[in-house]
Amino acid sequence: MTQIIPKPGIMDIALYVSGESRLPGRSDVLKLSSNENPLGCSDKARAAFVAAAADLHRYPSTDHAALRHAIGEIHGLDPDRIICGVGSDEVLQFVTHAFAGLGDEVITTQHGFSMYPILARMVGAVPVTVPETERRIDVGAILAAVTDRTRIVFIANPANPTGTMLTQDEVQGLVDGLPAHVLLVHDGAYTEFAAGADGGAGLVDRHPNVIMTRTFSKIHGLGGLRIGWGYAARDIIDVLNRIRQPFNLSNAQMAAAEAAIRDTAFRDHCADLNARMRDRLRQSLIQMGIGCDESFANFVLVRFAGPAEAEAADAALRADGILVRRVAGYGLPAALRITLGDETGVTRVLDCLGRFMQGRRT
Ligand SMILES: *Cc1c(COP(=O)(O)O)cnc(C)c1O
Repeated sequence: MTQIIPKPGIMDIALYVSGESRLPGRSDVLKLSSNENPLGCSDKARAAFVAAAADLHRYPSTDHAALRHAIGEIHGLDPDRIICGVGSDEVLQFVTHAFAGLGDEVITTQHGFSMYPILARMVGAVPVTVPETERRIDVGAILAAVTDRTRIVFIANPANPTGTMLTQDEVQGLVDGLPAHVLLVHDGAYTEFAAGADGGAGLVDRHPNVIMTRTFSKIHGLGGLRIGWGYAARDIIDVLNRIRQPFNLSNAQMAAAEAAIRDTAFRDHCADLNARMRDRLRQSLIQMGIGCDESFANFVLVRFAGPAEAEAADAALRADGILVRRVAGYGLPAALRITLGDETGVTRVLDCLGRFMQGRRT
């Protein structure tokens, strides 16, 4: 027996399950399981990535200044209060490492993103999961769960996998109700798909205990590149920078991300297509008698009569070469999360589910 024992909490971590990408024997797989951009990424981002290949022998910038300034310029934020990471996942990890430890409590919600409890356990903290109301985050339930040991509250807004969103007043009520020693992480991975949303930037400007996280993986279509960022009060960013590895991002990552954030035309085009596909898919599903909350993200959560029907629908989709996400692990066994595709992709999903529902009625 080994005497090499991991720190407390680590062996309680259930490995993250990512969206499937392959079906044996099929070349026409439509992958709608990971909330990726059906249009790929900006051509300018791809060109910048390729150009960066000329300098692979050079160490990258340690302070990410060019990228932070580009982000600041496009979003109207102070670049000195931005930190960049290997996906927003890494920024979330910095936050957890810096502000929670053994025996502390980290609040997440019933259908919340599965990375949050993983991160809490990574540092020996206790993930405290509070109920949601009808697949929406319940601010009152979060506030009721806060104790002296609470260090961090994680919410994604819009949320994954429900796609629902709190109003600005609700989020403000959450911040106002939190004690000053609790950090609110406002995860804005899907902000760009929610018209008019600021991802939590305004909250950060008004409150020293809020951090906003954002990603290049969703609307910018750069999930494979692994890059994200956070925005918070200067002293919080200063803490996080102390535990960040100096060369956490490569030149190629930063170059592509900078080109992506400056390509606002591509971003807006993606947001527009997404909004149209979201309306089309949701309205058609509702007409078929399938439950579907309004989504503010780039996916919809589709609710069936029960777990068996959800499984059968998933099987029907797979038989048609379509991969979506089972969300039983998120406390939603009767639902499937379907990423929005382009016109053709949405048509394929609707054709398949239309036949599936027809088959169940006859
Ligand atoms: C996709 C997603 C992220 C982004 O993760 P990256 O590490 O930036 O790829 C963050 N939070 C939520 C809720 C997500 O769904």
